[in-house]
Amino acid sequence: LYAPSRINSRGWDLANRADLNEFLESRSAFADAQWHAAPLIAGAPGAASSEREVFDPANPDSQIGTVRDATAEQASAAIAAARPWNVPVTDRAATLNRAADLLEENHGEIFALLAREAGKCAPDAIAELREAVDFLRYYAAEAVSNPALAPRGIITCISPWNFPLAIFTGQIAAALACGNGVLAKPADQTPLIAYLATKLLHQAGVPAHALQLLPGSGRVVGTALTGDDGIAGTCFTGSTATAQVINRNMAEKSSPGAMLIAETGGINAMIVDSTALPEQAVRDIVASAFQSAGQRCSALRMLYVQRDIAEPLNEMLFGAMDALSLGDPWWLANDVGPVIDRQAREKIVAHIETAKREGRLLKQLGTPDTGWFVGPAALSVGGIDDIAEEIFGPVLHVATFEAGEIDTLIERINARGYGLTFGLQTRIDSRVEHVTARMHAGNMYVNRNQIGAVVGAQPFGGEGLSGTGPKAGGPRYLPRFAEAPGPQLEL
Ligand code: GLU
Repeated sequence: LYAPSRINSRGWDLANRADLNEFLESRSAFADAQWHAAPLIAGAPGAASSEREVFDPANPDSQIGTVRDATAEQASAAIAAARPWNVPVTDRAATLNRAADLLEENHGEIFALLAREAGKCAPDAIAELREAVDFLRYYAAEAVSNPALAPRGIITCISPWNFPLAIFTGQIAAALACGNGVLAKPADQTPLIAYLATKLLHQAGVPAHALQLLPGSGRVVGTALTGDDGIAGTCFTGSTATAQVINRNMAEKSSPGAMLIAETGGINAMIVDSTALPEQAVRDIVASAFQSAGQRCSALRMLYVQRDIAEPLNEMLFGAMDALSLGDPWWLANDVGPVIDRQAREKIVAHIETAKREGRLLKQLGTPDTGWFVGPAALSVGGIDDIAEEIFGPVLHVATFEAGEIDTLIERINARGYGLTFGLQTRIDSRVEHVTARMHAGNMYVNRNQIGAVVGAQPFGGEGLSGTGPKAGGPRYLPRFAEAPGPQLEL
């Protein structure tokens, strides 16, 4: 009989009346909340910086709180105060499991913050809380079953705004599970949710010296935390360019050999051949390209459709796009929220405007009058080589291919250098084998969407320009945070 040793969190099913009511009621207490974040440093806190205001990306005139960013002096104080978490692994696991429970108990405030600070629509907020909880419980269980893992020392965790709770918590949980001390730098855009999560980890029993929070810019805080000789390694999720900056910064240290885990971007492709089920392909394309306003590193950017079906499939796709509702993520009726800030919006809009001028805009939805919204767009391109860089928003590039060209597509996609997610829609079994054996991508999805990897079931991470590995949420992740790799893992 198969009995899983660990079960992922249940989450909230919005089609279920009781869950829906609980979601709405728990969140409503925080509808007008103001949040405040500041560095959490174990030793002498050092002189604080002035307060910076934080705004709702869907309503940029509406302030939702303030943050005091860490100064360079505070970063040094935190490094001096940092200590590994030197207690038995079973104690650490129990604490991380308690933190998971606390996250679930505080779901109302978390759902409110995910909407207000990160622009997350309800299904994305629910999935994100589940993922954070799953990371805590999964790494706790993994650490207990690999007791030989010894901590490296102090690890810097630098997390992105697009998963301000799940990736923030996942990196920290992995480092802590092995007994490391953690210096956490959340993204500039999302310090409030990071502050709440850190408070809950402390409340669960993670000591202050083993987990310190340093909100602030990459230039000031990130540079200080990654370049210090006392840091044993950095775990980073964000852009490929920033990973390269961190790598160079770490190479300057006088102690060589610090560990770097980088999970970076992708220009992710999907191939739809003429045997694909069109209704399914369209649903999966829309979810992969536009859910979370396209702000996932796993999101679909480059769609290749076999010429024989391109016309009807595109027509169906554009019709499905018309059914998307764009607006304030607080309201359940909206499917697509804003992008994270003005700067992100300007960059994405400029990319769409160029395509428009060149006559390559196939489809775009209108936007609400205020807020950092970008109407989901489909642009025509010749192929993946025409996309100069990852566009982190609701923009899908579309091209066609001829029946005999599959191998050329595989070559082009591989040669572009990224390797994060890949989608394939076909009803030919031998094609599934042929393509997936040759494609270089960390996560491949067949006849389904290509986002939302599940902790413990679908380890997530890429290769090439997309990252160093190992994959998060999988059995090879923890050993990278440890001195001794431990026993050979069975995959
Ligand atoms: N793990 C997420 C997914 O599978 C993406 C993570 C990211 O965007 O950094 O969609």
